[in-house]
Amino acid sequence: MPDDHSPRDSTADRLRTIVAHDEPHPMGAVVPPIYQSSLFTFPSYDELGARFRGESTHAVYSRVDNPTTGEFERKLAALESAEAARGFASGMGAVSTTILGLCGSGDRILCVRHVYPDTYRMMLKMLPRFGIAVEFVDGGDADAVARALPGARLLYLESPTSWVFETQDLPRLAALARAAGVITVIDNSWASPIFQRPIEHGIDLVLHSASKYLGGHSDVVAGALAGSRALLARIDDLAFPYLGAKLSPFDAWLLIRGLRTLPLRMRRHHESGLELAGRLARHRSVTRVHHPAFANGPGLATLSGWSGLFTIELAPSIDVRRFCDALTLFKLGVSWGGHESLAIPALLTLQQASGPNSFRDFGVSPRTVRLHIGLEEIEDLWRELEQALGGAED
Ligand SMILES: *Cc1c(COP(=O)(O)O)cnc(C)c1O
Repeated sequence: MPDDHSPRDSTADRLRTIVAHDEPHPMGAVVPPIYQSSLFTFPSYDELGARFRGESTHAVYSRVDNPTTGEFERKLAALESAEAARGFASGMGAVSTTILGLCGSGDRILCVRHVYPDTYRMMLKMLPRFGIAVEFVDGGDADAVARALPGARLLYLESPTSWVFETQDLPRLAALARAAGVITVIDNSWASPIFQRPIEHGIDLVLHSASKYLGGHSDVVAGALAGSRALLARIDDLAFPYLGAKLSPFDAWLLIRGLRTLPLRMRRHHESGLELAGRLARHRSVTRVHHPAFANGPGLATLSGWSGLFTIELAPSIDVRRFCDALTLFKLGVSWGGHESLAIPALLTLQQASGPNSFRDFGVSPRTVRLHIGLEEIEDLWRELEQALGGAED
């Protein structure tokens, strides 16, 4: 965990080369072509036959395989230190395909509390219809996880979690799960592979909402899953072709473009996010900042930097609505991970979407506002936050 403003980033050089360097393209192009084709044809009966016997990797149909999408998948696998990866039409496509590919009727999922709200709702509302039980646990309490692991099919992690950014001890939980024969999967959208590579710490599968930092420009909704060839083959076998949530070639191209600057962007989100979170934590009109750097959580050892997403709780003297309406550089909106700064109050998004238990379920209060610190000039952002909080700090 870095305690100053420069991320601890020992493998950054390797990652920088992965995102900048491509496999050879036709005509020596430095950018991959977009294979905007739904199907791919074969020159002969024998070559068609070889493909269907699994003896060649010739693309067949873009719901399953597409060369542009494949290039994104190989880049992401390299970034996550994984053998293989799959691209999806959305982060939720990756979440649902992974779960339905690995779990069936009678299985139990052990899931850390305070995960991404749509993942949480999917587990509560949809999985029971398939006979899949879900048990939620405080992921920061490794003993509680250990007690609940026996008999589970899947341990679902998100470190840091959404909205309150609780972290989990990845090496320890991975070892406990392995000993209990439980597959581990983590949502790594917040840190991105630049700041956390869970497979290097024993986690089996890593998934992403690529709509966030991987894309990085707020122009694509996509997802990804990385892991061992054997586990991805199981998901390919049972869920991936049938649920059909495949990444499109144009979206894959946008992601490859976005990845080029991922190391640079993450460094800037790290610096600006940490600096502003620190200033907000010292401001008299902010009662609490939920940022993993300020919570001595068990998952800090595997994080080599901080991204730009955190939440604040406003003092009772600050009206949440007036605070939001005083922002102009910070736009009001969902999602995060792009170039632009964003704000969103828990009061509207979480409560509206899941009713009266939502604050308890997601660990927030009605005075919580989530901020995404984008790539703008930091002093411009600070001036605006200070103004919205009603003047300079003491
Ligand atoms: C946004 C998000 C998702 C869902 O991704 P989509 O691309 O919107 O489907 C999953 N996990 C986390 C942590 C997210 O923030």
